[in-house]
Amino acid sequence: RKPRVAVVFGGRSSEHAVSCATAGSVLQALDRERYDVIPVGISVDGRWVLEKDDPERLAIGAGKLPEVDEKGTAVVLANDRGGELVSLDPATVPGTLGEVDVVFPLLHGPFGEDGTLQGLLEMADVRYVGAGVLASAVAMDKHFAKLVFSGQGFPVVPYTLLKPGAWEADRSACEEAVASLGYPVFVKPTRGGSSIGITKVSRPQDLGEAVEKAAAHDPKVLVEASVEGAREIECGVLESLDGGPPRASAVAEIRYGTEYEFYDFEAKYLDDERHVDLALPAPLDEKATRQVQDVAVRAFEALGAEGLARVDFFLRNDGTLLLNEINTMPGFTPYSMFPRMWAASGVDYAALCDHLIQLALRRPTGLR
Ligand code: ATP
Ligand code: MG
Ligand code: MG
Ligand code: MG
Repeated sequence: RKPRVAVVFGGRSSEHAVSCATAGSVLQALDRERYDVIPVGISVDGRWVLEKDDPERLAIGAGKLPEVDEKGTAVVLANDRGGELVSLDPATVPGTLGEVDVVFPLLHGPFGEDGTLQGLLEMADVRYVGAGVLASAVAMDKHFAKLVFSGQGFPVVPYTLLKPGAWEADRSACEEAVASLGYPVFVKPTRGGSSIGITKVSRPQDLGEAVEKAAAHDPKVLVEASVEGAREIECGVLESLDGGPPRASAVAEIRYGTEYEFYDFEAKYLDDERHVDLALPAPLDEKATRQVQDVAVRAFEALGAEGLARVDFFLRNDGTLLLNEINTMPGFTPYSMFPRMWAASGVDYAALCDHLIQLALRRPTGLR
């Protein structure tokens, strides 16, 4: 029989809508001759439901952010030996998916991209696309990612961490730590994505509001020195099917006008006016391009990532390359950076989806 692929999307993080949009595109692209596809939505409050196979409904439109329909049939996932995987409330769960050969977790942010779902799938012994538990968790936590990367010699942006409750407990100590980075700074939820909850702060008197905004998404708040005047560069990494080293995509540069202070949520997903300009390939000389690709692949390996990742950089005018972050399940609509970078490297969207599923089918769960 054809492999049964559960496309899991939505989820409890603030990137719910982005995940739905990604799923819409993937559902459309998967080759139904090759795969049995089961769309599984996770509602904003964490309910697993069978979703309609309706890509249109899931698109991000003008003023419309898609959501999983929580009224769908609740699901139970089982592995290929009949072991049950997800049974939220057995008393009220009528549906079952039967066997699933591979899960495609199209989830961004905490509770999906951060190792939690990966842990559930490892426990249940069900194969899945992308990074495992540890790499997912480390990449999602920008603080631990910095420790892992700087510990292996990658230059990262200077930062200070505000532990949960630190701001309330000793505001002036926090203010002092941040001031020592020098303004402007970027205040971020330590575990998040799509720029949600991130603020650029230019004056100390605006710090409190930004910390509260970030803390609304994650009690761990990261404050980074702002990398001023640098270019924003991204590169995709994809594991090889032949077991060879991971491959780097064409390199992209993100440029935006003064309409945007930084590459925020609006710029990423809602910019109908095209104030954001993606240069693909980035106008870099061959040496700089190769350096970005080389660091991207090495960062992927340093993290122990698997499957895919998008690596985000800042490139200073003096040529120094700073590693900003790694995303283990990057935005994945055909308009998102990761698929576009691969399209520019000769791997189209459908081929990319297929490649990821094939990688996952070949990789057993467990310690590796
Ligand atoms: P995603 O996962 O969608 O890529 P994210 O929410 O994980 O995003 P970052 O990539 O860390 O967040 O930051 C989002 C954007 O904010 C960056 O692309 C950049 O435009 C800006 N930014 C973040 N940190 C800094 C910094 N230290 N200096 C300058 N700009 C920054
Ligand atoms: Mg990110
Ligand atoms: Mg992300
Ligand atoms: Mg980023």
